Amino acid sequence: MGAPRLIVVGSVAYDDIETPARAEKGVLGGSAIYSSLVARMLVDTGIVAIVGRDFRPEDVELLRSRGVNLAGLETAQELTLRWGGRYDQDLHERETLFTHLNAFANFVPHLPSDFKEAAYILLANIDPDVQLQVLEQCTGPRFVACDTMNFWIQNKRTSLLNLLPKVDALFLNDMEAFRLTGQRNVLAAARWIQKQGVMTVVIKKGEHGAVVISQGNVHAAPAFLLETVQDPTGAGDAFAGGMMGTIACLNDTSFETFRFAAAVGTVAASFCVERFGPARLAEVTRSDLRSRLQLYKTLTSIPHKEI
Ligand code: AMP
Repeated sequence: MGAPRLIVVGSVAYDDIETPARAEKGVLGGSAIYSSLVARMLVDTGIVAIVGRDFRPEDVELLRSRGVNLAGLETAQELTLRWGGRYDQDLHERETLFTHLNAFANFVPHLPSDFKEAAYILLANIDPDVQLQVLEQCTGPRFVACDTMNFWIQNKRTSLLNLLPKVDALFLNDMEAFRLTGQRNVLAAARWIQKQGVMTVVIKKGEHGAVVISQGNVHAAPAFLLETVQDPTGAGDAFAGGMMGTIACLNDTSFETFRFAAAVGTVAASFCVERFGPARLAEVTRSDLRSRLQLYKTLTSIPHKEI
């Protein structure tokens, strides 16, 4: 396997997920899983993460068989990260029931030498200190994106704020953006984040889509609406994996590419929620992505009329 063009550092977890229709324990999850299962369809992708002694061999096999480079995946004596979440009736709100960092609590990442030269880095949701340690080992990435969540905004705010000037793009959902910035408006929150030295801000708004704000440009990507959603877990990570995978694949960081990449991210997120855990992402192909992207283009295009 060649050197990855994109590396993803993030969580690998076993999740206990409760939706009104179904509850399952020990579902493979974590930001690095959802992001890399999408990105690997677009570009050579390696993950940097740690799992515990309980990590199932079939889960290693699943990642390997989907072409994810696992040279940066360490195994610890502790247990794999465990997270529990419960969704409300409409699958809009999610309550975190527990977060046991386990092996991640003492994780010090060591990048394989060919990972250090990766041009594109996705610091997917994990401890900002770990995200920084990964970044410090990279020898000159072209574009670095970072994702985070409330857990880290609350518990590691200073580390996160120190990391921001070192990243090119920040992904976060609207509630997280409001929590981080103290603002209650997406554009005002983005402006606050840009003042910390981040050029591009991507605010995800769940089933209402995402907004990309970069320098003077704003782009809105509505969600690809589905009639049936089984499990929203990982949609944000799938979006980030799709967006970064596309930017890395096209090797271009123009705003036009960001707009296209946001569409790919949106489509990837729509596949993610169709089944429980990462099951759907594990079977989706690049040609499935292309077909739904065509549909999405039709759905979002506006005909020209004079008014
Ligand atoms: P999302 O639905 O995109 O917010 O991502 C959900 C995934 O994030 C789940 O698979 C969890 O295992 C993972 N996760 C939950 N809490 C954390 C955390 N504090 N750090 C890293 N990953 C987490």
